[in-house]
Amino acid sequence: MELIFLGTGAGVPSKNRNVTSIAISMLNERNAIWLFDCGEGTQHQILRSSIRLSKLEKIFITHLHGDHIFGLPGLLSSRSFQGGETELTVYGPTGIAAFIENSLELSGSHLTYPLQVIEVEPGEIFRDNQWQVVCDELDHGISSFGYRLVEADKPGTLDAARLKQEGVPAGPLYQELKQGKKVTLPDGRMIDGEAFIGPKQKGRIIAIFGDTRPQENERALAENADIVVHEATFEASKEEMAKEYMHSTTTDAAKLAQIAGAKHLILTHISSRYDKEASLQLCDEAREVFPNTDIAEDFASFTI
Ligand code: ZN
Repeated sequence: MELIFLGTGAGVPSKNRNVTSIAISMLNERNAIWLFDCGEGTQHQILRSSIRLSKLEKIFITHLHGDHIFGLPGLLSSRSFQGGETELTVYGPTGIAAFIENSLELSGSHLTYPLQVIEVEPGEIFRDNQWQVVCDELDHGISSFGYRLVEADKPGTLDAARLKQEGVPAGPLYQELKQGKKVTLPDGRMIDGEAFIGPKQKGRIIAIFGDTRPQENERALAENADIVVHEATFEASKEEMAKEYMHSTTTDAAKLAQIAGAKHLILTHISSRYDKEASLQLCDEAREVFPNTDIAEDFASFTI
């Protein structure tokens, strides 16, 4: 699975950073791409990446500020022209349905695929046999959400080599052993599948936050996450300003990752006041609190 940053700037696009959008490529896992936020120009960024709009399955919107949603109408329309036929679901705060309906209707845009729009409330918003997605409210002046993705644990694998050593013939029996069942062999021996199955493989956890001031709901969303993606609009010394504008600093994000026991923090939503060199300093600030921190750049990708 790959986490791909399509836009990492705050508020307005700059030459180096487009406005917010983040993709999770799950092509191997479910032949799908999930997108988080869709700032203006996201479809242009996608053209410069390996992502295909036809593979988009879900879009999660954190909040309705323009730098997180102005790319939606264009992207949704273009998907029709790029072979998108499968259903697409958009999740977001109250108002996202009206925004999409109005902009598509007023511009006379017709989609060739089924579009479902779900206005979310805190709690579980999606679950299938692979993933559970929950969200909770943050603190940003308008309704802003953080999303937590929890992958289902994978069953342990059957130790075929050891079964062979024990003289258990390969065949349909293995299917039953794989399910942990007890099986009687032709020679009368009883074999317990459980004894030949390795430990469960823990599912991955990803937390992606919308814009926010530090807030107590954040911890549960980030708890033990393999990757936390969090805004860091301001440097640590601009804490007062960050509070005033309802944003976080580098150290706010790092403290969250630390208390939540996360494994890896990626900072994004970086103000255009910081050039490339200053961005590295932002990263260093966060690393003083939470060493395994990276700062995202447009088109950076991280394996999860
Ligand atoms: Zn915002």
